[in-house]
Amino acid sequence: MRERKRPEFPKRAVVTAGMPYGNKELHFGHVGGLFVHADTYARFLRDRIGKDNVIFVSGTDCYGSPIAANYRQLVEEGKITGSLEDYVRKNYEKQKEVLDKYDMNLNLYAASGLDRAGEIHKEVSEKIFNTLYEHDYLVKMSTPQFYDPDFKVLLNGRQVVGKCPIDGCQSDKAYADECALGHMYMPNELIDPKSVLSGKKPELRDVTNWYYKLEDYTEALKGQMDYLKQHSTARKYLIKTIEEFLKQPIIYVKRKQLEDGVASLQAKLPKHTIIDEPKKPSITFIFDNLNDRDKAREVLDSMGLHFRTGKTLVPFRLSGNIDWGIKVPEKEGLDDLTFWVWPESLWAPISFTKTYLESIGEDKDEWKNWWLSEESKVYQFIGEDNIYFYGIAEMAMGLSLLGIDSKDQVDWEHVNLPHLVPNNHVLFMDKKASSSSDIKPPMAEELLDHYTAEQLRMHFLSLGLAKKSVSFMPQVYMPEEERQGPDTVLKDGNLLTNVFNRLVRSCFYTAQKYFDTKIPHGEVSEEILHLSKDAVLNYEMHMYRHDFHRIVYVLDSYIRKLNKYWVNHMKKADTDENNDLRKQVLVDAFYGVKSALTLIHPIAPTSCEMVRDYLQVSENIWNWDYIFEPISALMDDVATHELKYLEPRIDFFKKHESQFK
Ligand SMILES: [Zn+2]
Repeated sequence: MRERKRPEFPKRAVVTAGMPYGNKELHFGHVGGLFVHADTYARFLRDRIGKDNVIFVSGTDCYGSPIAANYRQLVEEGKITGSLEDYVRKNYEKQKEVLDKYDMNLNLYAASGLDRAGEIHKEVSEKIFNTLYEHDYLVKMSTPQFYDPDFKVLLNGRQVVGKCPIDGCQSDKAYADECALGHMYMPNELIDPKSVLSGKKPELRDVTNWYYKLEDYTEALKGQMDYLKQHSTARKYLIKTIEEFLKQPIIYVKRKQLEDGVASLQAKLPKHTIIDEPKKPSITFIFDNLNDRDKAREVLDSMGLHFRTGKTLVPFRLSGNIDWGIKVPEKEGLDDLTFWVWPESLWAPISFTKTYLESIGEDKDEWKNWWLSEESKVYQFIGEDNIYFYGIAEMAMGLSLLGIDSKDQVDWEHVNLPHLVPNNHVLFMDKKASSSSDIKPPMAEELLDHYTAEQLRMHFLSLGLAKKSVSFMPQVYMPEEERQGPDTVLKDGNLLTNVFNRLVRSCFYTAQKYFDTKIPHGEVSEEILHLSKDAVLNYEMHMYRHDFHRIVYVLDSYIRKLNKYWVNHMKKADTDENNDLRKQVLVDAFYGVKSALTLIHPIAPTSCEMVRDYLQVSENIWNWDYIFEPISALMDDVATHELKYLEPRIDFFKKHESQFK
């Protein structure tokens, strides 16, 4: 057999999962859309490159106006007492508890505003701000912010709703400067703004904030996309989504408004080019820079013309004026600003890595060896709506912090920015979680009343969120009359609880009955060696590419073939009373079970540990250095090695108790 090229993994790795907000418990989508994938990958890497070479961190996103607003509302309704911090802490602890119930093995699940991680995060935030400021990547800008004259307050981002100004946007909600689909714009661009306090159109007041000069990095980011297309496993839709933002500033004006013709309008606008196709209802005006586009917007506004803007990079706001946030270092007399929660949450995983390193007695400055070293790689599992923040704002700021200027030629071969793994949404019963529906989407914890953590882990991995949104349709949440056929959520879990569980048990019972509770010695057959190697190499490649649903296919095919091999040959051995054949099949089956266990371990760790305990083999069974070794390589003393006795009717991979009714 020709040797296949195997993927290369880094020496060290950091895995992060998008941070849940501190105003809620975990929703099924947090677990099913992100954490299961991140945890499976982190567990795989620990097996593949060594337990001590992987740090998996995430945490509660503590700050931000929605959290403060929810808190105030609950206090007003008399539903909670205590401080805002108490409220966030309660949610943080609940999130942590639920992640534990799902067998998530994070090195640290922290909170950006609490305890030691909160302290370190303040230091990191200050340091990053000062570095960006000192190297002239920040700009102080007065921009209009919404103000509600009835309530006499400046409104925060979420207190204003309207329509997204980005051409073609399908979002159902848009806030002061971002829409529900993650488009960014300036507040004065929002269409039909309404204050959620008074319900009236708010006024605009100028407020001064710090902005990061994100738009300067447009060309650099284009270069990064070209590099990623050639040299990485970055998902295609990630690159496509990012590239949509890397366009020149554009304004679309409906042709029918221009009674005096295009030429008279063109004369009033700053330097631009136009695309004027008679068949299209809009004329496209392309500008060299944001400044010119904004001058053009003023001209169009003054003429009373309607228009839409195209996606383009705009300065990225770093600060805001809500109290519940980390204080921004005072510069140039601006002394009452706090960090906007988005930028601060982008560097929170660095703060968490430092916190973790300190907690295990290492120097927290070692974080650089994990985040920046060429021997290391950072993998960030994020939601599709957050690509703008992680894929654009974070990458550009990363370049700035590395001292790479926007005009510099970037050597992408040696600039080690995080690798993003964006997942699409898991929809509940074909609907987005935010949309109204008769059936309320379940919280992550509730699902465990009906399914085991391992059944759900298998199912969520099988959904294929790498390409498109997929519906999650647990039968227990459907009305009785709509429940047809088997529960789709159990399909992939059944592979473990039925097929594989039966095979493992059969191996043990056969060893107990015919071979003194020992694994017989012997050469594994070519057929099984070949089958196993193929499964291992396919699995490894899919893991490398974060194609989790393909991993589930590989396991399905492999385990079913092993099982078929067992059933066919054992039947013949029993019929012929052929103990040599029985021995050979058992040798082969134990080898297959051993290989499959290593592959299943990142997904169903608790059950796999139970099998290991009964096999009485060392933890090296999880270590990929042993992936092709015979099972005897895992025994202390091959001559005397005995299995742990398996009583009748014991299951390794268990169903949920509710499934026995
Ligand atoms: Zn939008």
